[in-house]
Amino acid sequence: MKNKSEIRKAYFLNKYVIITPSRSKRPRDIKEQTLIKRTGKCVFCPENIENDLVVKKFNGKRKGWEILVLKNKFPALTLDNKLAYGYQEVIIETPDHTKVLAEFPASHFVKLLKVYIDRTEKISKIKRMEYILIFKNEGSKAGASIVHDHSQVFSTDILPPDVYEELKLAKKYKLKNKTCPYCDIIKQEIKTERKIFEDKNVAVFAPYASEYHYEVWIFPKKHLDNITKLNESEIKSFAKALKLILSKLNEIGLSYNYFFHQVSSDNDQHFYLKIQPRDSIWAGVELGSGLVINSISPEQAAEFYRA
Ligand SMILES: [Zn+2]
Ligand SMILES: [Zn+2]
Repeated sequence: MKNKSEIRKAYFLNKYVIITPSRSKRPRDIKEQTLIKRTGKCVFCPENIENDLVVKKFNGKRKGWEILVLKNKFPALTLDNKLAYGYQEVIIETPDHTKVLAEFPASHFVKLLKVYIDRTEKISKIKRMEYILIFKNEGSKAGASIVHDHSQVFSTDILPPDVYEELKLAKKYKLKNKTCPYCDIIKQEIKTERKIFEDKNVAVFAPYASEYHYEVWIFPKKHLDNITKLNESEIKSFAKALKLILSKLNEIGLSYNYFFHQVSSDNDQHFYLKIQPRDSIWAGVELGSGLVINSISPEQAAEFYRA
């Protein structure tokens, strides 16, 4: 695709994106200000942690903690509220206030993924939990309110409508084609110029109808339904891939959200990680029509990550 706009349909969802590469800016022009200054009373710095919020400390070899799980102090959902049932946690990724996740070695990503696995295992045992979302907001544009690097866990007894819709259409695809749509997408995408990285365990690519500039999906090649099914070697591959993507985003200072697409109650889905940088701002067309304009084609995005 050269400079002409192109309307693309998401693989099997009823969603459309208008790719308009001629309007794209070069990555180096979009550097965004992110403040990593230590502000007097950061609630995620070790000296300010409230003990009664601590759920679990992950130590590594050092004293204190390397990664810390806390109860969310201001949860939207709680286990004692029938009207808004759910459970939320915060995962502080480092005691160091000034470091961003992207700067850590792949070995730290391995540790973080293992914490995600630990929390998914634990929370899936809570009664009636249908859905466990693990996500991270990095940078002000991604909605992060505290700069100290952290991820969050959000779990509820309802399946959010978007997730339900995707699940429903994936099942429809399976019935019709007798294959998993995501397994098919992986096989197809690693042969295109949208491929960013692959090894024996994972496939990483910019999706055909990317809604966000530099959007990336990371898939286990094996048909695994959630993060707890990853083996040691797959965790390492996942960590390497995530480190690669976050380092590139850090280079150009882009805010991002990432989240695991996994449902605890469905044991036959193909889980994956979506990384959605927050460069573009959705405006009239997006909000009014639901059509999304993306001025950076996924092919350009993949080229950026491969460089
Ligand atoms: Zn801090
Ligand atoms: Zn699959």
